[in-house]
Amino acid sequence: MKKYKAILWDLDGTLWDLNGNTTIALTQLFERFQSSHFQNTSLENFLNCYPKHNERVWALYREGKIAKEELRNKRFIDLFDEVNATYDLDFVELFATEFLAICPRLPHLIEGAREILELSKDKYTHVILTNGFIEVQGFKMAAAGIEHYFSTVVYSEEAGVRKPHQAIFDLALQRANCTAEEALMIGDDWDADILGARNAGIDQVFFTATEKRLAELHDGKSVRHNYVPTFTIDTLDELKNII
Ligand SMILES: [Mg+2]
Repeated sequence: MKKYKAILWDLDGTLWDLNGNTTIALTQLFERFQSSHFQNTSLENFLNCYPKHNERVWALYREGKIAKEELRNKRFIDLFDEVNATYDLDFVELFATEFLAICPRLPHLIEGAREILELSKDKYTHVILTNGFIEVQGFKMAAAGIEHYFSTVVYSEEAGVRKPHQAIFDLALQRANCTAEEALMIGDDWDADILGARNAGIDQVFFTATEKRLAELHDGKSVRHNYVPTFTIDTLDELKNII
């Protein structure tokens, strides 16, 4: 097996349980504002409708088509429209601010995350490579108590471009002090993490949990990819066979 020196980790949905923590934060906010703003929907519907709006604005953000400030609010405007919420733009601002105050401070990790980091901490240089916002990603790692595993965190915002752009992978390799052949990218986003790493000459581990969950939520159809990643895993536990 190829010997890697550095592991490049995506954070959201790969280590930090984005879906679980988002569900907790949205539930809290839904309950707080239900009687004043969300009379026309159920919590279940509210939670089910959110991911596709969030995914869509994140895709636009990755492509540089919308700014961060727009992403922050637009996912909720689209959600509120779909669930027939009673709202104005002040409420959107309040909701988005509260969401970003609550969610990143929640501590839940993907099952097996802490164990694999602990098992492999001395064998590799571990790097976080994230498209997430600088001001919240640190809270997530601190809340989950995983900061100490990583030698560095590379933010797309400091690279000026986002995954899957090659420049951010090059910056990560530079920080990890290794070549593309010596690095392994682990992530749950097909375009950003897997195709991005492939284009940068870096081997990839595709963690399928997020894609499977979204497919179930939408139409039950699994996505077909015309590229086979270096490794594919359904659980983080399977990383024990790879790293
Ligand atoms: Mg991710």
